Amino acid sequence: MFGEHCPGPFSSCGDGMTGWFNSFRIRLTLFFGALSMALGLGLFLYITQVSSESMTNARGETLRGLTGHIADVLAETLRERERELWLLSQSPMFVDGPLDGVAMRRRLDQVKASYRHYAWLGVADAAGMIQSAADGLLIGQNVDQRPWFQEGRKGRFVGDIHEAVLLAKKLAALPSGEPLRFVDFAAPIHDARGELRGVLAAHAHWQWVAEVINRALPANAEGEKIEALIFSADGRLLHPYEEIGQLSLPAQLKAGENSPTIVEWSDDGRYLTSNVVVRASTRVELGWRVVLRQPVQHALAPVARMQRSLILLGLFTSAVFMLLAYRLAVAFSRPVEQLAVAARRIERGDEQTHFRFAGRTLELRGLAASLEGMTSTLLANRQALEASNASLEQKVEERTAELTEANQQLSLLARRDALTGLHNRLAATERLREEFLRAQRSGKPYALLLLDVDYFKKVNDTHGHAVGDAVLKHVASLLGVALRQTDFVARYGGEEFLVLLPECDRSNALLVAEKIRQRVASATVPGVGHITLSCGVAMADVGDQDEDLAVRLADQALYQAKDAGRNRVVFQAQALA
Ligand code: GH3
Ligand code: MG
Ligand code: MG
Repeated sequence: MFGEHCPGPFSSCGDGMTGWFNSFRIRLTLFFGALSMALGLGLFLYITQVSSESMTNARGETLRGLTGHIADVLAETLRERERELWLLSQSPMFVDGPLDGVAMRRRLDQVKASYRHYAWLGVADAAGMIQSAADGLLIGQNVDQRPWFQEGRKGRFVGDIHEAVLLAKKLAALPSGEPLRFVDFAAPIHDARGELRGVLAAHAHWQWVAEVINRALPANAEGEKIEALIFSADGRLLHPYEEIGQLSLPAQLKAGENSPTIVEWSDDGRYLTSNVVVRASTRVELGWRVVLRQPVQHALAPVARMQRSLILLGLFTSAVFMLLAYRLAVAFSRPVEQLAVAARRIERGDEQTHFRFAGRTLELRGLAASLEGMTSTLLANRQALEASNASLEQKVEERTAELTEANQQLSLLARRDALTGLHNRLAATERLREEFLRAQRSGKPYALLLLDVDYFKKVNDTHGHAVGDAVLKHVASLLGVALRQTDFVARYGGEEFLVLLPECDRSNALLVAEKIRQRVASATVPGVGHITLSCGVAMADVGDQDEDLAVRLADQALYQAKDAGRNRVVFQAQALA
C-alpha cells in the first residue's frame, strides 16, 4: 500500500524498518492518529470526570431524598405511637377507672386493633403487675424490672428494639424465621391528684420498620441494588436482620451525617452512601440512623456505558482522522513524487522531461516552475559548454598539428646546413649511429668518404668570404653526381663533407670517391676557376667497436691524401698507430 513505487532520489524505498517510518504519508497519518487519540483521551478523561461527579451528585441526591423520606416516616410513626399512648393514658377511664375492668380491656382491644403492628398493649399497676391487656396476654405477670415499666413511670418512653422471649412464645412466629423483635412505647397513668396509678405500654412489631422501608424504596430498588440499613445510635445494625453481625457502620459515617458520598464498606465494596439520623422529637430520642447504599458500579453504570460509547467513538474518530490524514498526505506527496520522478529522468539524461504534475497548490506550482527554469538554464549552459569544448578541442587539434609540423620543420632545419642545403653535422652524427646499428644487424658494411677542399683558405683570402661560400655551394651541388638515392651527404665541417654509402664495398666506394674528385676537379667555378678536393675513404666493419672508428679511419686517409699532394683519393684500412 505504501511502497507501491519508488519515486526517485527522495524515496525511502528499501530502507528497512526505518524506511516506512520516514514516509511522509505514514508520519502524517501517525501524527494525526496520535493527535486525535490524545485529544480523545483528554476529552474522555474530562467527560468521565465531570459526568462521574454529576452522576454521583445526582444519584446521591436521589438516595438522600429516599433516606430522608424513610427517616421522616419512621420519626412520624414513633412520634405518633408515643402521642397515642400519651393521650390514651390521660383519658378518664385511665385516670379514675378500674385498671382491670371490662371497659379497660375493651378499650385496649380497640386500640390494638386500630394499629396492626401492635403486638401487645396493656396496663401495669404501680407495683409492676399487668392488670389488663389486649387479648388478655400476660395478665398477672410482674414487669417491674422491665425498662419500659421503670422508664414509663417517669414519663413518656420509647424503648429501643429488643427481643421478648415471654411474649414471643404467645405470638405466631414470622415466616422468614427471623425472631420477633419489638419497639416499646410507654406512658405513666396518673390519678386526678397526680399520683402514679400504673404504666400503659405497647410493644410494636419491628416489622413496621421493614414495611416503611419497602414502601419508601422505588420499585426498581432491588434491580438497582439500593439497600436500606438501620443502625442504632451506638452503631449496631438493626435492619436487615440477616446482615446483623456481618456489617458494621463505616467509621466515616459514625462521626455523623454527611452528604452522600462514596464509602468503603466492611464487606469490601465501594458504595454510594447516604445516611440520615431519625429525629422523632419524642421524649426519649432513639437516635436511629437510616443508611441507603448502592454499589458504585451500579450507581455509575450510565457513566460506564457512556465511557464504552466514548471509547468506541474515539477509536472510530481516530481511524477516520488517520484515513483523512493519509488521503491528505497522499495528495501532498504525489506532486512531490512526480517532481522527483521528473528530476530523476533529467538526471539520467532525458532532456525532454517537464516538471508537470497533478497538484494545484500555488507553492508546488511555483516549485515546479522554478525547477523547470533551473533545468532549462542548466541544460542551456551545458550545451553552451559542450559547444565551447568542441571548438576548443578543434583548436587544440589544429594548434597541435601546426606545432607538430613546426617541430618537424625545426627538426629538419636543425639537421640541415643553411649554406649548402645538405645535412649538417648533427644529422651526420645521427645517421652514422643508425647506419652502424643497421650494419651490426644486417652484417653488411658501409663506406665512409671524408672530402676536404684543397687550399680553401686561399680562395677566401683571394676572393673574399662570399666567394668562398659560393665555392662551397658549388662543391655541394657536384657531390650528388655519383650517388644513389640511399646514399647520404652532409657538410661535416667548414669546407669538409661526409658521404655515407650503405651496403657498399671498398671498390665501389673508391669508384664513387674518384668520380666525385674528378667531377670537382674538372668543373670550373665562376670567378675562381678550377678547384680540387682530397678524399679519405674507409669501410665500417661489423666488428667495429663504434661508429666513430670508420670516421677516424676516413679522417686519417684524408690527411694522407693531403700529405700526398692533394686532389686524390686515399683508402685507409686500419687505424694508424
Ligand atoms: P688545405 O689544402 O690543407 O686544406 O688547406 P686550406 O687552405 O684548405 O686549409 P684549412 O683547411 O686550414 O682552411 C680552411 C679554411 O676555410 C679556413 C676558413 O677560413 C675557411 N672556411 C671555413 N668555413 C668557411 C665558410 O663557411 N665559408 C668561407 N668562405 N670560408 C670558410
Ligand atoms: Mg679543411
Ligand atoms: Mg682544405
